[in-house]
Amino acid sequence: MKATESGARNFQRAADILGLEPSIRQRLLTPYREVKVECPLLRDDGSVATFVGYRVQHDQSRGPMKGGIRFHPEADEDEVTALATAMTWKTAVAGLPYGGAKGGIAVDPATLSRSELERLSRVFVQRLHDVIGPNVDIPGPDMGTNATVMGWMADEYSKYHGWTPGVVTGKPLDLGGSEGRVAATGRGLVLGAECLFADEHRLISDFTYAIQGFGNVGIWAARLIHERGGRITAVSDVTGALRNPHGLDVTALIDHTRQNGSIQGFPDAEPFTGADLIAENVDVLIPAALGGVITRENAHRIRARYILEGANGPTDADADEVLAAQGIIVLPDIFANAGGVTVSYFEWVQNLQNYYWDETRVNEELKRTIQKAWRDLRATANELACDLRTAAYVLAVRRVWRATEQRGS
Ligand code: GLU
Repeated sequence: MKATESGARNFQRAADILGLEPSIRQRLLTPYREVKVECPLLRDDGSVATFVGYRVQHDQSRGPMKGGIRFHPEADEDEVTALATAMTWKTAVAGLPYGGAKGGIAVDPATLSRSELERLSRVFVQRLHDVIGPNVDIPGPDMGTNATVMGWMADEYSKYHGWTPGVVTGKPLDLGGSEGRVAATGRGLVLGAECLFADEHRLISDFTYAIQGFGNVGIWAARLIHERGGRITAVSDVTGALRNPHGLDVTALIDHTRQNGSIQGFPDAEPFTGADLIAENVDVLIPAALGGVITRENAHRIRARYILEGANGPTDADADEVLAAQGIIVLPDIFANAGGVTVSYFEWVQNLQNYYWDETRVNEELKRTIQKAWRDLRATANELACDLRTAAYVLAVRRVWRATEQRGS
């Protein structure tokens, strides 16, 4: 299923509940601006490779547009549009004064040298600099990008506009990045899970977990779950999966992954096929990698009681129906992984004020934001007697529509 189709189905369900007219639906779904750019890259060997980059700016009714830039071979117009739209709903659920955007270049960053990666990051900003800005559209990190890339992007933008750290978030600390940003998505996921479990008088430590994807989000979620006494019995990455029913040694696994670039070869665990991770016999499944991984075809294999969506769009709309029939509770991406953009928001606030917070303050404010979003989400789900994804979309679409209406046209 196309990513935009899945997102549109979630939107239409919420719009039905809210009784929105077709013209309003069309207005809310149509992106504000879509930019597609040529990104020529001078390779280290003197040849030139040309990549295609996208920035989709979906909505700005609640504030400047916000969202990551992804460097991934599968980044395309459809995916970037779906992710930009999801950012609009995500910032609304989290109560951040932002709209949504997303960008991407169809490239595998692992095939680039460091200097090629830097040149490509700079070329992208050269093409985009007149349509982004701290009051317009603020990119951040996503799959395949990191603090180093964000630092180059801030520097490149500043060549045109003067030093403007608030134009991108997720920067290195020395360039105006925020304490706590790297851990933020994983931390937000765990804080969100604590809210969900607390409603059932349960704790993180009551459950076993399987994590799909051991990148930034998966690693931080694993570390924080482990610290709280949760038992992680399986993880996977692009090289395959590992299990240990007694619980993986998470600290050692993170060290191993940092040293070797993947989980492959980690001792004290049984290797198995990555595609089978979703069928692990655990209480909680955490997809924390690519979108579209849980589909009508494989959803019936899931044995977990809960799915915490660390990734964007891991579950398509068909799969949601299968999961609902199985009674599986899904903590939806537009709430579950909002911790990253929330601390990006804190970073932007600090940049605009030139006043920097310590990590304790960042983490406390993150907790307050997630807990407030959870109260709103739970209240909406209770009021409508619906699942959490439907409630999150209703909450978000209602907020975005209200702002759009009050701005007038
Ligand atoms: N890429 C993250 C997300 O999907 C964060 C975006 C940002 O910080 O702007 O929410």
